[in-house]
Amino acid sequence: MSWPTISKNVDAFPVQPNLLDYAAVRAGFTWAEARTALSGLPGGRGINISYEAVDRHAAGARASAEALRFIQANGSSTSMTYAALAEQTSRFASVLRGLGIGRGDRVFSVLGRIPELYIAVLGTLKNASVFCPLFSAFGPEPIRMRLQLGSGRALVTTRALYRKKVSQLRASLPDLRHVLLIDSDGDPEPGTLDLARLMLEATPYGETAATAPEDMALLHFTSGTTGKPKGAVHVHDAVVAHYATGRYALDLHPADIYWCTADPGWVTGTSYGIITPLVHGITTIVDQEEMDPLRWYRILTEEQVSIWYTAPTALRMLMKSGSGEAVRPDFPALRFIASVGEPLNPEVVMWGQKAFGQPVHDNWWQTETGGIMIANFAAMPIRPGSMGRPLPGVDAALVARDENDKPVMHEGTAVLVNDPDAVGELALRPGWPSMFRGYLGEEERYRRCFAGGWYLTGDLARRDSDGYYWFVGRGDDVIKSSGHLIGPFEVESLLMEHEAVAQAGVIGVPDPVAGEVVKAFVELRPGWDPDEALRRDIIGFARKRLGTAVAPRLLDFTAALPRTRSGKILRRLLKARELGLPEGDTSTVEVQG
Ligand code: ATP
Ligand code: MG
Repeated sequence: MSWPTISKNVDAFPVQPNLLDYAAVRAGFTWAEARTALSGLPGGRGINISYEAVDRHAAGARASAEALRFIQANGSSTSMTYAALAEQTSRFASVLRGLGIGRGDRVFSVLGRIPELYIAVLGTLKNASVFCPLFSAFGPEPIRMRLQLGSGRALVTTRALYRKKVSQLRASLPDLRHVLLIDSDGDPEPGTLDLARLMLEATPYGETAATAPEDMALLHFTSGTTGKPKGAVHVHDAVVAHYATGRYALDLHPADIYWCTADPGWVTGTSYGIITPLVHGITTIVDQEEMDPLRWYRILTEEQVSIWYTAPTALRMLMKSGSGEAVRPDFPALRFIASVGEPLNPEVVMWGQKAFGQPVHDNWWQTETGGIMIANFAAMPIRPGSMGRPLPGVDAALVARDENDKPVMHEGTAVLVNDPDAVGELALRPGWPSMFRGYLGEEERYRRCFAGGWYLTGDLARRDSDGYYWFVGRGDDVIKSSGHLIGPFEVESLLMEHEAVAQAGVIGVPDPVAGEVVKAFVELRPGWDPDEALRRDIIGFARKRLGTAVAPRLLDFTAALPRTRSGKILRRLLKARELGLPEGDTSTVEVQG
């Protein structure tokens, strides 16, 4: 596949000019210096995410600036200034203190994207307690499993969610002392507390608790794409990486209106939907509703969004809907689009260029890395289909794997793959601030992530001679067919170039001759009939472009591919169903397919 590099006109594109020279920026960067951009707690009492995100702005020139803008179901909005956010989060911290919830205690939420969620996250950090936001769409079992593993001491939720999903769990969760309902409305629900009343009675004064850089701040569960979700532990020092990556990978400027479409139940929605924009003192849009193409186009236009951070699945849905093409307005303020979570098909990057007048900048990271690690920077040309290059302060490499998919070691160090375009396991040199400090309760699983001085990501990638990284597939998803290593991403991206294809998921199925052959599951764009002629046409198209060794041998049409709540295609579920195997952990499945 060959896609043009997209060179941006940097004169017309207001990236910070001192970021244009990639090599110079990397060479001049240290985390210690990045740390000096933040203020630290007054009196040298350490560093606290909430202080950097809220209090220092509230105490300065940005006190009356708009921190959060919540878009309601009907399209109207409510705003919260930095000063108001500081007051509300201090009250929340006081409420926790009053309940005896202190340093290191875990506070969970099961809430939609409403103001109380944002106040709870930042208020908990102010109190030196640890926050774990859960998707409000989780059922009782995923909620129970996470509360239990995290020893949740308090839970913030709504009456309806409590009745439906939590009340029946109380007996099995002895650590869960307090359930705080945001909508008690003076009519207490048995076994719960009225958060609104407690907030009114609590003092808005009281300083942010002292926290050391290594104090635990957040617990985030991985998406569960490959199996049972892991609880990744993050610390207050992570805010240094949030600040720096917001600058380098998202190009945040003081006057930006920023919209991250991720829910805080997924790490992206917390790292980049709450912490990063607030640390930069800018205005963040929060949409409470589920994704809807026309609504999204309206928000981008009417709210004057300038920086938009979203995910491939959402962009593919916009593409598929086609509706935007007819009604799409201009996007006068939009100047930067970024995407994360899954490989971003080149077709989507190019569509973005047509639809928004801006290409989409892919970037790569994981729940474990806490922040963006590899990106198509604002300041550099985009290579569609590539994740980009490592951020300043991030040391990436490709580790060779043996025939059992284990890292190849030599005298205690990992053997690296250095040939351009050779495939290896993407690895990172430990030591960046937002790196996870463990998987809660799974010491052994954590230990297995490291070998020979590297953190192994579980993803396979290659690197071209200019240092751009290209995602091949998750270690478990890569297909071995007649001696070829086939990355599902390459096949899926090619299928998307066919005019009838909206999304594709590709797996390997056992074959007595080839070992495995490629099977594709295809979601069609509106107006196409899933008939035999179309199946043959798509397979023929793929053969012509990819060759018979790589093109899918088998192809099924499906109305919807199974996806996680964070929007990732669940290839392991496609495979389990295909082979008639148990489906494994399905706690994060959103679309069953
Ligand atoms: P689990 O670890 O529970 O199986 P998960 O890995 O999907 O779930 P996340 O931490 O949300 O959980 O996702 C990180 C993974 O998402 C990466 O390891 C990678 O496989 C994929 N990913 C993220 N961004 C990109 C990208 N830009 N290109 C390709 N893959 C990406
Ligand atoms: Mg993972």
